[in-house]
Amino acid sequence: MNILENVALAPLTTFKVGGPARYFAEAKTAAEVVEAIRFAESQSLSIFVLGGGSNLVISDAGWPGLVLKVAVKGIDESSGDEGKTLFEVGAGEEWDRFVARAVARNCAGVECLSGIPGSVGGTPVQNVGAYGQEVAETIDSVLALDRKDGQLRELCAQACGFHYRTSIFNTSERERFIILRVTYRLTPGGPPRIQYADLKKHFAGFQQTPSLTSTREAVRRIRAAKAMLITPGDEDCRSAGSFFKNPVLATSQYAELTRRATAKGLRIPSYPALDEQMKVSAAWLVEHSGFSKGYSSGRVGISRKHALAIVNRGEATASEILALKDHIQQRVDELWGIQLEPEPVFVGF
Ligand SMILES: Cc1cc2nc3c(=O)[nH]c(=O)nc-3n(C[C@H](O)[C@H](O)[C@H](O)COP(=O)(O)OP(=O)(O)OC[C@H]3O[C@@H](n4cnc5c(N)ncnc54)[C@H](O)[C@@H]3O)c2cc1C
Repeated sequence: MNILENVALAPLTTFKVGGPARYFAEAKTAAEVVEAIRFAESQSLSIFVLGGGSNLVISDAGWPGLVLKVAVKGIDESSGDEGKTLFEVGAGEEWDRFVARAVARNCAGVECLSGIPGSVGGTPVQNVGAYGQEVAETIDSVLALDRKDGQLRELCAQACGFHYRTSIFNTSERERFIILRVTYRLTPGGPPRIQYADLKKHFAGFQQTPSLTSTREAVRRIRAAKAMLITPGDEDCRSAGSFFKNPVLATSQYAELTRRATAKGLRIPSYPALDEQMKVSAAWLVEHSGFSKGYSSGRVGISRKHALAIVNRGEATASEILALKDHIQQRVDELWGIQLEPEPVFVGF
């Protein structure tokens, strides 16, 4: 296995910012992952595990240790219990390639997650979700190398501790597991999930129940219109997707937010998907704090198509992105009394 030195990381991310990795290795098998860990340990290097680089802000200084890119491939299909189909997918597979395969096999459960960039191994980490679905609903198990004792562990979905944009992999057990394979449990012949307002609107007036294929196409089209699908030439895609999580509020916080909005003659937007969990739209908070779509501050700004995406307008640095993030958080806190939590992972800060 090749261990490379001083490898530029910016091109390996969707944000296109950040400095180099001191050492870099790409592991295609579990054995290569073990070999890379041994190398890092022998040199006392800290390890950062890289997937598709779509949820990262890498510091301008880069990563002083080893960046380990997980490139374990393969999609295997088998029959599960209760008529389900199991897909065992290598962590290094491109997520959307797997979704395309599942939809082509007429298996329901991930169609609304079409077009999300990144790798399969990245999906359990923040329990990827969109348009009314999240991977927690279909993940059967996760095979991971446990860095605590070097053993392979098969974690059932419950052990992964999935919640909104969280799992044990980005909270209590952060940096402990290197995910090698994820098994999804899908429903052959199942109907697509058309629950989200954008999708309902897209299919309004259709006589027949949409197919999984047409749902996948609709999701990709809706995402492209918001620059949430990586589209060559669209500079609003130079982002890490949504930069802030939708805040989950306590009843008293929600009442205070409503009071502040009413005092300004505004109404907090209400969506069934958010209301259920007392979540408010982070995009609304950002837009109503002076950062509308298309906002620019030097080489960084807000996407012209999505208020929640901070974008690199070309040659931006990570510190410029951080400065805009801090500015937005400060204004939202001042105006609405809410602390926005970033969604991407900050590396090397
Ligand atoms: C345009 C755009 C749209 C997006 N839309 C959505 C969306 O709708 N919903 C959503 O939830 N997210 C969205 N995202 C965020 C991102 O695509 C997802 O979080 C994705 O799953 C990240 O996967 P990745 O492979 O790129 O991970 P990376 O960005 O490479 O890494 C993210 C984190 O996961 C860890 N990690 C990655 N692979 C492994 C592994 N094999 N083992 C252990 N840890 C690992 C990394 O160490 C890091 O902590 C979007 C991003 C962009 C740029």
